[in-house]
Amino acid sequence: MVRIYKCPGCGSEMIYDAGTDRLICPHCGQTRAIDEVEAQEASGYSTGLIGQETADNAGDGMKEYKCPGCGASIVTDEFTAATFCSFCGSPTLIESRVDGKFRPSRILPFKFDKKAAQEKFKTWTGTGFLTPASFKSQAVMDKVSGIYVPYWLYSYDARVDIAADCTREFSQREGNLETITTEHYRVNHTTHGRYENVPYDASEKMPDESMAVLEPFDYSDLRDFKLPYLSGYMAEKYQYSADELGETVRSELAPDVLNASVGTIRGYASVNVIDSDVKFLNETAEYVMCPVWTLNFKYGGKNYPLYMNGQDGKIDGVLPRSKGKTFLLFAGAFTVCFLLSLLMGGIF
Ligand SMILES: [Zn+2]
Ligand SMILES: [Zn+2]
Repeated sequence: MVRIYKCPGCGSEMIYDAGTDRLICPHCGQTRAIDEVEAQEASGYSTGLIGQETADNAGDGMKEYKCPGCGASIVTDEFTAATFCSFCGSPTLIESRVDGKFRPSRILPFKFDKKAAQEKFKTWTGTGFLTPASFKSQAVMDKVSGIYVPYWLYSYDARVDIAADCTREFSQREGNLETITTEHYRVNHTTHGRYENVPYDASEKMPDESMAVLEPFDYSDLRDFKLPYLSGYMAEKYQYSADELGETVRSELAPDVLNASVGTIRGYASVNVIDSDVKFLNETAEYVMCPVWTLNFKYGGKNYPLYMNGQDGKIDGVLPRSKGKTFLLFAGAFTVCFLLSLLMGGIF
């Protein structure tokens, strides 16, 4: 089904009210608890407009839907779960993308709304003397878009076996002679640890490096997944299953797990690992959605994608330098030097 939530007061489209567990009508301000909306749906009452998913293939793996709001075509790729009708702007949810094995078990809702995200992007540039002036324009800020990124949260018991050559040193002084004795110990060391909620983004579109900068999210804020949290945001279903990513995640985590275990070998002057074995046991992977604000800034024919953690506002990305302003700065510095040299020339 394709779904749009409607305001019972004025009939406008309702969106998730960031930082709460409610939907809000941006038109009249009325709010409704998400639990209440879900309960109403469950008892068979409609809370909005529902369209059938008569998905026609639009070529290139794209699917076409009819907007239940205005009847226009909504063309999405096969991963999109929440989007906007490009004709009437209605926040539109495609339910089959979050059904069955694609239904997230939990979600981290956005903590602050688009307006707050825009302000955070603006203040992030600081005094921003070299930031292109167009960055803070309304046209650019309108492009700020909230997306729920599909994530796997892996949890494991880790067992680490280490064989190490460890040393202890003693020094003895007799007159001017100092004798240093080094004793070697063969140490067999085993540790058991528990790793919870190791995040890995399961979307091809989001760059892993940027997501790694935004992580970790605050997983204590996870709630049971409910569809209304997606309304007014973009959302995607996972492209990679927990099994497909498992090997990568374990191999990236293993060095940290090993280091942590080595750190627990104490009482020696040196620890030299000869052999080690890291085993991940009782692996579980939970499918969740995490909140990210994005802004793709175009400047000088290039794209500068920016990403913001939707909980704590941490940003990853690089802004271009304004060409005009850099020239001004250079020209200004040159003038100061020139004046100084004139001045010096005058004095001496
Ligand atoms: Zn309303
Ligand atoms: Zn529409």
